[in-house]
Amino acid sequence: MYIELDAVFGNEGAGKAFDYAFALEDELIASDVHVSGRVYNKTGIVYLEGKAVYELTAVCARCNAPIRKPVEVPLSHCLIPHAEDDEDDYYIVVENMRLDLDALVAEDIFLAMPSRFLCRESCKGLCSICGADLNQTTCNCVKSTDPRWDVLKNLF
Ligand SMILES: [Zn+2]
Ligand SMILES: [Zn+2]
Repeated sequence: MYIELDAVFGNEGAGKAFDYAFALEDELIASDVHVSGRVYNKTGIVYLEGKAVYELTAVCARCNAPIRKPVEVPLSHCLIPHAEDDEDDYYIVVENMRLDLDALVAEDIFLAMPSRFLCRESCKGLCSICGADLNQTTCNCVKSTDPRWDVLKNLF
């Protein structure tokens, strides 16, 4: 979605709300991206605040279990009509008073996305020797590769 910002840039106190969904093609995104928030002019400076919500689909980096969960990405930017010296993700240059909100949201989503996913922080993963899912079961190879166990074995 595009937002026309002439009126917002031109008038202190002016604002525009947005609430819509769009499709973002990515193997990790299992739903439309729902975007809501507003742009507003506060003492001559234009801000964008809001959030993007989507359904993430991935596999756990440790145990390969499928992961599906809603993800909320906060949107927080300052919109400026011309490029300035400060290069920063916070400042967004709006060409011709027209903001491509889909492109901005897509960038924020991919910046916030971790490079790997875990089904839960405490996931024990798979045994590197026998492949057993250590969340479900235990296996003997884990114990024999634990150095503390070797110390005990040497005692007997
Ligand atoms: Zn896992
Ligand atoms: Zn094992």
